[in-house]
Amino acid sequence: MVKRTTTKNRSGFSKYLVSILLFLLFETVAITLWLTKNNLFYLLNFSYIGCCLSLGTALFTAGKRYARHFVQLAVGCYMLLYLGVFSRENMQIEGFWYYLFLSTFEAATIHYAVAKIFGPLLFGRGWCGYACWTAMVLDFLPYKQPQKPRKEKLGILRYVMFLLSLALVSALFLMQVTHLEKIMFWMFLAGNAFYYLSGITLALIFKDNRAFCKYLCPVTVFLKPMSYFSLLRVHCDERKCVHCGKCLQVCPMNVEVNKETRKRKNGTECILCYECTKSCPKKALH
Ligand code: SF4
Ligand code: SF4
Ligand code: SF4
Repeated sequence: MVKRTTTKNRSGFSKYLVSILLFLLFETVAITLWLTKNNLFYLLNFSYIGCCLSLGTALFTAGKRYARHFVQLAVGCYMLLYLGVFSRENMQIEGFWYYLFLSTFEAATIHYAVAKIFGPLLFGRGWCGYACWTAMVLDFLPYKQPQKPRKEKLGILRYVMFLLSLALVSALFLMQVTHLEKIMFWMFLAGNAFYYLSGITLALIFKDNRAFCKYLCPVTVFLKPMSYFSLLRVHCDERKCVHCGKCLQVCPMNVEVNKETRKRKNGTECILCYECTKSCPKKALH
């Protein structure tokens, strides 16, 4: 009896291992930045994000359907409204170039390093599934599962957007424009308005909530190659798969998830929403 209870407790604990590891990872970043940069903001900022992510993933593990929306809103609103609008930090890709050109390791450069460049080696495109403030709105639209085939060729637009953002900030620096900080703040507001408008329009045209992520988002130029090597990924036990196609139907990102290889089609598009694992009748996905 005692043995059975212990085994049960252990399996309960291991279920929440990802949440615990996420919390520890963010606390490590929070404490390291707090001590090295001697700034309490980093401790509070990364502790808050870590708490939201670990609580959200724990709720998700416990089977709460609202878990992903909860994390998206808690982290997304904080970053958009508090860091972006209230603290006037440009947290978009233009902000990343801006701080990079200033050789300043803070705000958007730290955010990009943790969430979008090096973090994806550990947690793939978890940012896209649980924290992005653009997708936080798009995910409330009616087309959670794409209603039309993916337009593979349109993916080229993300590289155009990436180069445009780099060219825009480079031009501002080369022309030695004054009041650059103020301009970056207004660019942040205008950029977000553009993302929301184009994101909603694309979702309605393609009947696909995540069309913006697939075709236009410049951040994916960082996210895709890094997440290819991600430690955290959806595995498929191909021996159990009966090729019913249910996982492919529910996947919002058109990932060929019923293949185990990292080279699966659209593998670097996975946002770790785990809709596929819930739909598999053979428990082949985990
Ligand atoms: S692809 Fe871009 S817009 Fe979509 S969730 Fe990721 S970062 Fe956000
Ligand atoms: S449904 Fe599965 S394969 Fe598709 S994005 Fe979500 S976790 Fe990834
Ligand atoms: S839902 Fe499961 S059984 Fe069906 S194709 Fe996907 S992995 Fe295979």
